Amino acid sequence: MARTDAIVLGAGFVGISAALHLVKRGLSVALVDRRGPGEETSYGNAGILEGNTLFAHAFPKGFGALLRIALKQAPEANYHLAALPGLMPWLLAYRANTRGDLALNFAKAMRPLFARAIAEHEALMTEAQATRYLHKTGWLKLYRREESFAGTRRERDYASELGLELKVLSPEEARGIEPSLAPVFRHAVLTPDAASVSNPGAVAKAYAALFARLGGVILKGDALTLHRSGQAWRVDTDEGPVDGKEAVIALGPWAPDVLAPLGIQLPLKWKRGYHRHYKSNGNAGLARPVVDADYGYCLAPMEQGIRLTTGAEFADRDDAPTPIQFDRLLPAARALYPLGEGVETQPWMGSRPCFADSRPVIGRAPGQPGLWLDYGHAHWGLTLGPATGRLLAEMMTGATPFCDPKPFSAERFAS
Ligand SMILES: Cc1cc2nc3c(=O)[nH]c(=O)nc-3n(C[C@H](O)[C@H](O)[C@H](O)COP(=O)(O)OP(=O)(O)OC[C@H]3O[C@@H](n4cnc5c(N)ncnc54)[C@H](O)[C@@H]3O)c2cc1C
Repeated sequence: MARTDAIVLGAGFVGISAALHLVKRGLSVALVDRRGPGEETSYGNAGILEGNTLFAHAFPKGFGALLRIALKQAPEANYHLAALPGLMPWLLAYRANTRGDLALNFAKAMRPLFARAIAEHEALMTEAQATRYLHKTGWLKLYRREESFAGTRRERDYASELGLELKVLSPEEARGIEPSLAPVFRHAVLTPDAASVSNPGAVAKAYAALFARLGGVILKGDALTLHRSGQAWRVDTDEGPVDGKEAVIALGPWAPDVLAPLGIQLPLKWKRGYHRHYKSNGNAGLARPVVDADYGYCLAPMEQGIRLTTGAEFADRDDAPTPIQFDRLLPAARALYPLGEGVETQPWMGSRPCFADSRPVIGRAPGQPGLWLDYGHAHWGLTLGPATGRLLAEMMTGATPFCDPKPFSAERFAS
């Protein structure tokens, strides 16, 4: 029987980062996953480290936009009809949270995490000898329609109030830094202080290797076996049962599967997303991720090729993949950038774990002493894994948290 101070369940960016921050504070830590580190959602994202993000993704505005989605004509979103009744309360709450003062509440609560995000990654990448994957070239958002660019006004004004740089570029200026883009857009916004990684899966594995070098133990095991054993939490692994004085749920989209049997039901839903890599025609290339805002996809330069990631698909997490958004957006993507042939035959699919207020849950699990929660990082689990790992480790070890953890408490869902 192995005994540890803490078991971290889930080896995506969120769990690996929490495990790293705990082991750095002198705890004995077992990181348990049924797969290898960084092989699920943390593998397939667009690789953007979003330091200056202020608002969550807006709910579509206007009848026309909603109708296009309803008619399955919109490239930026897809849905499974059978999933909608179960999703409706969440969708309405999400809509409310992305408007007015609630949108501002999100920005204020999340600011300390975003502000810290890139520095935390850079420190870990340096230690993990993984800085070759880090590109401090920012990211670019393109707007084809005047109305969608005008819709960024509030965020741009608030950014300048806070002294954060969001640089508005003309198509010519944008093509000055990304010459392979065709001038099919009217406006561009560059976030120069953001960064990106060119192989998120490899970065996750480098962080996991650093965790092991610092004395952490990585084990294969099933988090569904988590149960109390005396004062400890116990989980079964390929190496036998492991006990932890404390346990951390960092299972991203799968957290509810383990928490429900323990009586903890928080309103997590999923925004599924897909990616596929493409070769570039000729000498084309990108120096940074580029988001085509009106079509809701991203082109990100990765080691495997140009990674095209899609927007949200509202479906049950375990429904079979339906990657029809590629058909809707590929003509637009090819008009913007000379995408060549696809690298894989089948797209990758993952699920962004999202609460309706787009904030993760970080802190104690209600009613279960010794159990901690660190999940629900939505569109920003890569970006925020290390910063939230620090916050959680500070809370678990009784240190002063670097920011107010209250907005991330599970208690916010208690009615
Ligand atoms: C298309 C797409 C694009 C994205 N782009 C970005 C981006 O550019 N920037 C950004 O910051 N974020 C982005 N995200 C979001 C980001 O990828 C996620 O928020 C993040 O990966 C979540 O990390 P996690 O560690 O919580 O979950 P995961 O990486 O999914 O890790 C959870 C782990 O739990 C394990 N697990 C599950 N069940 C069990 C079990 N029963 N027993 C043991 N282990 C189990 C899994 O194997 C997995 O390793 C994107 C997401 C998608 C889908």
